[in-house]
Amino acid sequence: MTIPRMRAARSPKEERTIAAKSASRAAPATSKVKVDPARCQVHARCIAVAPELFELDRFGSSSEKGRGIVPPGLEHKARLAKANCPEFAVEIIEE
Ligand code: SF4
Repeated sequence: MTIPRMRAARSPKEERTIAAKSASRAAPATSKVKVDPARCQVHARCIAVAPELFELDRFGSSSEKGRGIVPPGLEHKARLAKANCPEFAVEIIEE
């Protein structure tokens, strides 16, 4: 007869690693883009790199399309727009 082996207790580091892995498998967060109208200086760089996410209003300032929700697959364009805005007017909100 074989005696079953007892599994050693996990260290706190192993527990954190396991928790982080399961959190990364959770449903993806919704991202939103937001333009701060007080900062926007109408360079239109955001629109050049992400026309799916931004539009010009009638005053020439950029604003987010719709409610600013970033469709799946366009997260990289949101980050690109944020990185290319010289006025730091583009914000990405993770929900
Ligand atoms: S790149 Fe920045 S400052 Fe220029 S239009 Fe877009 S949000 Fe406005």
